Amino acid sequence: MTAAMERIVYLDNNATTMVAPEVLDAMMPFLTDRYGNPSSIHSFGGNVGKHLDRAREQVAAFLGADQDYEIVFTGTGTESDNTAILGTISYYRDRKHIVTSRVEHPAVLSLCKKLERDGYTVTYVPVDSEGNLDMTALRESVTDDTAIVSIMYANNETGVIFPVQEIGALCRERGIPFHVDAVQAAGKIPIRVNDIGCDLLTISGHKFHAPKGIGVLYVRRGTRIRPVLYGGHQEKGRRPGTENTPGIIAIGRASQLASEHLSEYHGRVRALRDKLERDILKRFPNSHLNGNRDNRVPNTTNIGFDYIEGEAILLYLDRHGIAASSGSACSSGSLEPSHVLRAMGVPFTSAHGSIRFSLSRFVTEDDIGYVLSVLPEVVGRLLEISPFWDKEKRQGKPMPL
Ligand code: PLP
Repeated sequence: MTAAMERIVYLDNNATTMVAPEVLDAMMPFLTDRYGNPSSIHSFGGNVGKHLDRAREQVAAFLGADQDYEIVFTGTGTESDNTAILGTISYYRDRKHIVTSRVEHPAVLSLCKKLERDGYTVTYVPVDSEGNLDMTALRESVTDDTAIVSIMYANNETGVIFPVQEIGALCRERGIPFHVDAVQAAGKIPIRVNDIGCDLLTISGHKFHAPKGIGVLYVRRGTRIRPVLYGGHQEKGRRPGTENTPGIIAIGRASQLASEHLSEYHGRVRALRDKLERDILKRFPNSHLNGNRDNRVPNTTNIGFDYIEGEAILLYLDRHGIAASSGSACSSGSLEPSHVLRAMGVPFTSAHGSIRFSLSRFVTEDDIGYVLSVLPEVVGRLLEISPFWDKEKRQGKPMPL
């Protein structure tokens, strides 16, 4: 192992995050001594149920929900997204239209593709070249046949924030249920369900320092939704199955911590992200920002490098102990540019060379300095062997480094 490999600089926090030490401490007793089933009559299990109630309160406070009852614990963000859409359309059986955007996570898009095969019509609202949602198109897409509007709060690849409050007002006016996928917003920007005016909202624990395998679906009181799973009475029948008690305790504690650290994201973390981005864009004339510079969550930057492959950059960075991503965790691994960058009309040459760096509060200034010290060698080496760049060079373009 080389010295460089011993160091890990983790800049892939939109894919998943480390479990915060305080969260691990909170959940540990529920993995060891406090293993009782919260549905039990005996107090050994019943006491665990009291801790679940507390976690529900913590999540409700984090989202600004009126009542703890509105918080439903699920297995993942994917499950919450699916439950919101499937549960709503199974109530409004006579409505056959769904509105979403072209840049949603596959947890929404793959389901919509399946529903199209089942006879639903889906409108995929476009975005502009900066990744902003086309609100005119969204407004025009809504009809009396629309069963649900499902739009993300912040995009996982670019970090661009969508105007969910405006969409919430529109849906209210038209009497259409509104679901917000807030998985990439949690912990990065405030989430207030009453300000948004949504009926349903999804978050996922592993994106804000709780472990994997715990999600939340906020369901506003009075929202018409049918369960997707059938079984016991857990979660008041809305999501049956014995509760993931350590996960629920963890997401409760992580919610509390996320509120406490929000200002750090808007201060220190944003400053580190901006430094990384500014220095890259200044240093490499073949680089440019993907996404709206101002209207973004504070931890994410997505940078396109012309003429070189994102996967190759990632592999070289990996050799230096730096973890980043070339798109969403799910689409990396395929050689197609991501559906988000394609929807933004990012040119082929730079869509292929796009890298997402996503920070957390555990990233230090030293980490960012290290990435900036390693990048020139990586980018320079890849440009030298790039067939795209070779062609430009033969046409007289100077080396951008
Ligand atoms: N929605 C968005 C915007 C995401 O980024 C992700 C995960 O990357 C999900 C949904 C799915 O969440 P989970 O991994 O908990 O299923």
